Amino acid sequence: MEHRVLEYFDVVIIGGGTSGVPAAIASARNGSKTLLVERSGSLGGLMATGMPALGILDRKLNKVVGGITEEIVNELKEEGLAFGNLRCPLHNGITTVSPWWYRIVATQKCTEAGVTTLYNTSLLDVKVTDGKVCGVSLLSGNYIYEVDCGILIDASGDATAAYLAGAEYEMGQPEMLEDIISEQAKLETRYDIGHSKAGKVQPISLTFCLGGVNTEEFLDYLRENPETYKSPAGYGMHYDTEYLFNSPAIYVTCFGEFIEKARANGDFDIPRDRVIFATQPNKGEYLINATRVVDVDPTDPIAVSQATNELHRQVAMLTRFFKKYCPGFSECYLANIGQYTGARESRRIVGKRTVTKHDIDTLNIPEDCIALGGYNCDIHLSGVGLYFQPVEHAVGVPYGAMVPRNVKGLLVTGRTISTDSYALAVLRVMGACLALGEAAGTAAALAVKDGVDVADVDVKKLQQLLVDNGGIISI
Ligand SMILES: Cc1cc2nc3c(=O)[nH]c(=O)nc-3n(C[C@H](O)[C@H](O)[C@H](O)COP(=O)(O)OP(=O)(O)OC[C@H]3O[C@@H](n4cnc5c(N)ncnc54)[C@H](O)[C@@H]3O)c2cc1C
Repeated sequence: MEHRVLEYFDVVIIGGGTSGVPAAIASARNGSKTLLVERSGSLGGLMATGMPALGILDRKLNKVVGGITEEIVNELKEEGLAFGNLRCPLHNGITTVSPWWYRIVATQKCTEAGVTTLYNTSLLDVKVTDGKVCGVSLLSGNYIYEVDCGILIDASGDATAAYLAGAEYEMGQPEMLEDIISEQAKLETRYDIGHSKAGKVQPISLTFCLGGVNTEEFLDYLRENPETYKSPAGYGMHYDTEYLFNSPAIYVTCFGEFIEKARANGDFDIPRDRVIFATQPNKGEYLINATRVVDVDPTDPIAVSQATNELHRQVAMLTRFFKKYCPGFSECYLANIGQYTGARESRRIVGKRTVTKHDIDTLNIPEDCIALGGYNCDIHLSGVGLYFQPVEHAVGVPYGAMVPRNVKGLLVTGRTISTDSYALAVLRVMGACLALGEAAGTAAALAVKDGVDVADVDVKKLQQLLVDNGGIISI
């Protein structure tokens, strides 16, 4: 293996996904020499799969994510490549962008901001001296690159960099969740094919898109069969006809009756009782969010690899299921498959501050808030079904939730910030991760400018910078 030493970067970001992209743009725009390291061949992560970003509108329909995300969504909307922020009675709001164009614009914005991006490059190790991160080793092709840096941002979705730096972390918490979800879970599972309980972590999944769908035909079916989209008794949130039949784009959960039929015919063996799908900007195209493998540790590459084989089998089974059983889908075809298996839950660092269930229950927006999460509590259970409960309005993330308790020179962003597993179920969605990314990049650049550790950033100054750049930190 050949070793090469790269130049010094003020800020290195591991992961060019949902939170890593805004982190890199914000860091570079605020004057830091920024390196973005992405293990795949493109930027955007789960935000570039066609899934609608949730949590940009909160339950009261306040817009709670602005800044770089709003800039990109508005630009794409102008070209008919995004729908903007639309109300959804179940998910509060949905913000769907063309996955391909999101990827292009994310790349373009990073380049324009002066970010250096290394694709097909994985984090190998983190250098820590006297408890402070001072560089990373990266693996790409037949090279090991050594890079010294001032600040490292972990946007890997698994807190891999934080783990390698020795940051304290947690994962799962089934005991705490079990009691909370058990009552709703009893009401929620309509088909007795699995045990609905908290898993070690939430299931992992692979999304895909179907093209060639006859939208009018499937909407006619929904009009005539409202039972199909009726929420389980436990949710307390329900679709309405205004949304389903008048919104330019929808994210809908339905077709349990066809799953039952297909299961009886031996055509369906996936642990789900409904499918969920979302309108894409390409006419007749829908993102399908319906595969799942339960109780997989997302940080165990062998377990994830085995599950990835299974998830591809499920993509084929679901495509055939839609084609054979679901009104409007008889001519559908597989248009694309997400570029990697996605985790809903992984390591959560132990930060200087932690967002907990109490913060969600009290709708807390702390004084040192640097990002808002406008989603509900959404826990995919082990077995079938969801624990899904409304959160009345956005909750705030304190700056300290991105700052590991025991390592300096490191910020963590995206779904692996410091939360308990209940708060994670609110903050894990893309709206919050996008806002957290921008906050992390801005904070890192501010720390560089002021010559301080990330733990000592002037939070008032950070908040002002975020707001000046269109960010939203209060409602
Ligand atoms: C199946 C599924 C459905 C979901 N549905 C929705 C939904 O409908 N709406 C919603 O808002 N949210 C949804 N979520 C949640 C949301 O998508 C994620 O929690 C969020 O995107 C996480 O953002 P992130 O930046 O932390 O991670 P990611 O977007 O996954 O980005 C991580 C990036 O880091 C890179 N990376 C990882 N490790 C390394 C490494 N060692 N070196 C270099 N690069 C690395 C990855 O390649 C990736 O690009 C869903 C999640 C899943 C899995």
